[in-house]
Amino acid sequence: MSDCIFCRIIRGEIPSKKIYEDEEIFAFHDINPIAPVHFMIVPKVHVASLMEVDASHQKILGHILLKANELARGQGLEEGFRTIINSGRIGHQEVYHLHVHILGGPEPLGSMLKRRAP
Ligand code: 5GP
Ligand code: ZN
Repeated sequence: MSDCIFCRIIRGEIPSKKIYEDEEIFAFHDINPIAPVHFMIVPKVHVASLMEVDASHQKILGHILLKANELARGQGLEEGFRTIINSGRIGHQEVYHLHVHILGGPEPLGSMLKRRAP
């Protein structure tokens, strides 16, 4: 059994503001939101990051993205949202249990990343 923080949230050992769960996935609000709506969808199976996935994860990855749209609408994001998957050191991943961030709010979120000065 993994003592990873998101595995513990999935098992209910650490409280979270849950949005949705089924046999394969779990969705909950980010504890430190960076947009008016900010939640994450994670697979229940422990996968460290998108850098570790293989063909056996194809179904669950599709399931997460289909649910992203449905759950975003359920959170009032009818006019669009952003999905982010941070992967590895360069991607600035902080929690090593694969998660898809869903971000949105009443106003447009702005550009994806700040452009570096030339
Ligand atoms: P990453 O940088 O790995 O893509 O994002 C990890 C996210 O997990 C961060 O946005 C952070 O706020 C969130 N997070 C970290 N610990 C917890 C926690 O205990 N509960 C919840 N709900 N979110 C967490
Ligand atoms: Zn985990």
